[in-house]
Amino acid sequence: MFDIFLEVTCSLIAAIILYIILRGMKHPEVRSQPGSRLVVIGFGLLFFSLLIDITDNFPELNHLLVIGDTESQAFLEKVVGTLLGLFFLALGFKRWIPSIQELAYSRQSLEHQVKKRTKDLEQANIKLSIEVDERKKAQEHLKHQALHDPLTSLPNRYAMTEFLEHEISRASRHNYFSAVLFLDLDNFKSINDVQGHGTGDQVLKIVAERLNQCRRAEDFLGRLGGDEFVLVLTELDADLQIAAELAQVAAQRIIKTLDEPIFLVDHKLIAPCCIGIKLFPGTQEEACGDLLKQADMALYHAKDKGQGVVSFFYEDMQKLLEKRLNLAREIQEGLEQEQFYLHYQPQVNIDAQVFGVEALLRWNHPTRGMVGPDEFIPIAEEAGLIHELGRYVLHHTLNEWSKFLAEDVCESTMKVAVNISPSHFLEADFVDQIKHILSSYDLQNCHLVLEITEGVVIQDIADISVKMEALRQLGIGLSLDDFGTGYSSLAYLKRLPLDTLKIDRSFVRDIHIDPNDAAIVEAILAMATSLGIDVIAEGVETDAQRQFLEQRGCIFYQGYLFSRPAPLNELVEKGVFEQAVECHAVQKSIQPSA
Ligand SMILES: [Mg+2]
Repeated sequence: MFDIFLEVTCSLIAAIILYIILRGMKHPEVRSQPGSRLVVIGFGLLFFSLLIDITDNFPELNHLLVIGDTESQAFLEKVVGTLLGLFFLALGFKRWIPSIQELAYSRQSLEHQVKKRTKDLEQANIKLSIEVDERKKAQEHLKHQALHDPLTSLPNRYAMTEFLEHEISRASRHNYFSAVLFLDLDNFKSINDVQGHGTGDQVLKIVAERLNQCRRAEDFLGRLGGDEFVLVLTELDADLQIAAELAQVAAQRIIKTLDEPIFLVDHKLIAPCCIGIKLFPGTQEEACGDLLKQADMALYHAKDKGQGVVSFFYEDMQKLLEKRLNLAREIQEGLEQEQFYLHYQPQVNIDAQVFGVEALLRWNHPTRGMVGPDEFIPIAEEAGLIHELGRYVLHHTLNEWSKFLAEDVCESTMKVAVNISPSHFLEADFVDQIKHILSSYDLQNCHLVLEITEGVVIQDIADISVKMEALRQLGIGLSLDDFGTGYSSLAYLKRLPLDTLKIDRSFVRDIHIDPNDAAIVEAILAMATSLGIDVIAEGVETDAQRQFLEQRGCIFYQGYLFSRPAPLNELVEKGVFEQAVECHAVQKSIQPSA
């Protein structure tokens, strides 16, 4: 009985194995394996032999499977079936096993490759992440550079425009007032020129740090360039008056902070500032550019009043701006229509003998009447017309002067002085311009004196010196005008080929009553004498002034005491030139080169 149980169990196991193999054979990859069909046949034969073995126990079932009639034939079938089954199995596995081994090996290799590839991908991923981070940092750096000033790291004009536009619409939407504070340093140019650009940069950095400390976190501070900074005070108050007071307090705090001395390695400097304020939103819709322009106007207004001044923009300033723009346009028209003309004011020596004249520009406006140079010269400067105006004056002066000298009315060495604006003098081709203009007239170069202000000599001293030397070699005299009001120092004067200093009229006016003015004039005279430079006192209107100057060694004068400015023919009619003498001032024995 146990035999039957064992045989049936074996048959069932064989059947299951055969079933599994047959199911596996449905899969193309298994079916394609070499020897797989032989294994199926082998198992089939073994299963068949086992069935024969089982039917042996039930002779009545023999006819189902056993081919032969006898027991020996059945035994033979069983043996043959088993042997054939084992043979096919052996043959099948012999072919299949290497394939399985190869498959296993391939799988191992594949797994290895997958691991390696995964590792490579992970490393590539890390590299990519690093590259992405670096690129992000580079982009952020570029963005920072595009929106920030490299010197102070403060936001620049672009960033400020973006912020201000946003703040304008926010203030309008939420009904509160904000303020733009436009400020620049009062003496930055002289710091830069005298102490050098390195010191100037250090000062700007310190100023930026101090301004940063003066602002709230929600406020915006930017540098527009040079020594110009803008502070936007956000969300001050819904009440205009309170907002203005808060802006005023903030501005005063800035002025106080910047009034503190700046200690550098070998310098102690003070960099005070003026501030122009514009509150917004206003009654009309305003763009960012309008606000900045108005705050800038307020700043100019503050600067007109002196150092450390705060000024608000008010509507009259807008009218003033429009008036200035109109005047600039009219100056242009005036030049085209030759509305400008010249008056000449004699310059005299101690014996009241004329040795030269200063050409002074006048403008007879068709509707406004006489417009003074104090009014139109600054506007011509602002509008960029000063160079054109300068050339106009040179041409007209030289034309009139050459004709005047040709008439032999007076001493032929009499000089004519022409005022030159600093920006015109600083043009790179200024010397060539002068040469070109002189070549148009029958006049020796030595008849011309150029009067420049101190604003010129605090610029690039080396360049100015070269330019002045070139002019002097042409025989042109050089006179430093309005002396005492600027930043000139003895060191500058020593380096420049100057012929004359003109003491500013503001010192002469009260010279006999204000001891300070008298002391300054005495110092100027002493200094000029030691440098071998002649001095002309401007604005001499009374005999008391003249006597005072004469007592201190000043022997050349110009002013109403001797003659008011007038057209040349009028001066001739008055006999002004009858006492003319050869020039003593501006007489430096330089011979014209041509
Ligand atoms: Mg002058």
